[in-house]
Amino acid sequence: MKFSQLLCPTLKDSPREAEIVSHQLMLRAGLSQKVASGLYSYLPMGLRVIKKIEAIVREELDAANCQEVALPLITPASLWQESGRWAKYGPELLRFKDRHDNEFCYGPTFEEAITDMFRQSVQSYKALPVTLYQIQNKFRDEIRPRFGLMRSREFIMKDAYSFHLTEDCLDITYKAMEAAYHRIFKRCGLDAVCVQADSGAIGGDVSAEFMIRADTGEDEVLICQGCQLTANKEVIEKTNHCPKCNSTEFKSVRGIEVGHIFKLGTLYSSALKASVLSDLGKPTIVQMGCYGIGVSRTMAAAIEQHHDEKGIKWPIAIAPYTVTIIVTNMRDEAMVETGLALYETLKHQKIDVILDDRSVSAGVKFKDAELIGFPIQLVIGKQFSETGTIEYKERDTQDTINVSKDAIVGHLKTKLETSN
Ligand code: ATP
Ligand code: MG
Repeated sequence: MKFSQLLCPTLKDSPREAEIVSHQLMLRAGLSQKVASGLYSYLPMGLRVIKKIEAIVREELDAANCQEVALPLITPASLWQESGRWAKYGPELLRFKDRHDNEFCYGPTFEEAITDMFRQSVQSYKALPVTLYQIQNKFRDEIRPRFGLMRSREFIMKDAYSFHLTEDCLDITYKAMEAAYHRIFKRCGLDAVCVQADSGAIGGDVSAEFMIRADTGEDEVLICQGCQLTANKEVIEKTNHCPKCNSTEFKSVRGIEVGHIFKLGTLYSSALKASVLSDLGKPTIVQMGCYGIGVSRTMAAAIEQHHDEKGIKWPIAIAPYTVTIIVTNMRDEAMVETGLALYETLKHQKIDVILDDRSVSAGVKFKDAELIGFPIQLVIGKQFSETGTIEYKERDTQDTINVSKDAIVGHLKTKLETSN
């Protein structure tokens, strides 16, 4: 991509409405834009980040034997009436009628719809276990949308649901999903902790949340000082001591919930009568698990965890572009030519590269590069005219080294290989 053709309206100052740094930088770096309260559009750069996070999620879930499906964004009220949630779910559920007076909701979560898909499709235990997932926009009419994509009304969620004949089988998938979640967040360059959210009455954990540590996080995470177990406040309030080592000393830190895994048991399958014939030919209500990841919130959390006073420091795996080539003087023919050639070479090598070929000052280009946060800058500037070298600079460490024009591609590739 050439920067001169890119829709990326960077802002010098933070819009007043943005209270936390991820929201400020997201708007300033031209990643997303507000449409109305809790409703945001993704601009090209923001969408690239989203797509990269989604690709990692897909790869890891597919590797864990999950199958991708796509359900309609709206769900008929009848399914929610079957589960009993039509009456229970409060004003967060956006309800509406079509022209025939049929009631619907814009899906905030899809246990009902997926259970309906399952019961229409599976009759025998032989098809189990099965895990289905989708990545799409959800809507929750949040009472207080805030912090941009962190708590919006429409947001992108990956939701997965697993179906099993037995609790033991659910257990295995639940643990596999927990492991997949660790891999997903690690690959996104995020330091996430898995926090026990609720201890089941009959032993065993039924729910865990994945938290990104950040001072601006809305959730409180307690770390046991005896065994380092992490738990959310509700769990500790219930028991007053660590469920693992009995210690009563905890350190409190703030976190952002980016994922949630849950053993549902037969909550929805019994309400919607989702059963299969067991190996003994006996109709059996299936066990279910559900597993969510806030994709758009993960993007915000990544900024919260990776930034400095100049802007975003994207982890390579989810950066909108890995490399930016900055040609400081567009009137210098040799520079322009070198920049273009390097750009074509890197594109050819399947490296995500953007060429800053705008006719603006070098200062503006540097500022934007730091603000948007491309992990690597290749600067073709004064030192190129003088010594024929290109400056290689890492956004995160600010490490800078001059490399000859002929060696720059090799240097870059070695760096990218070692960072993977
Ligand atoms: P929260 O406690 O933050 O309201 P939740 O527990 O209601 O979230 P879940 O139902 O567990 O959310 O949804 C799965 C994931 O979707 C969450 O872990 C979070 O990452 C994301 N998510 C939930 N609500 C929002 C929102 N309003 N905006 C952005 N992401 C959200
Ligand atoms: Mg949750």
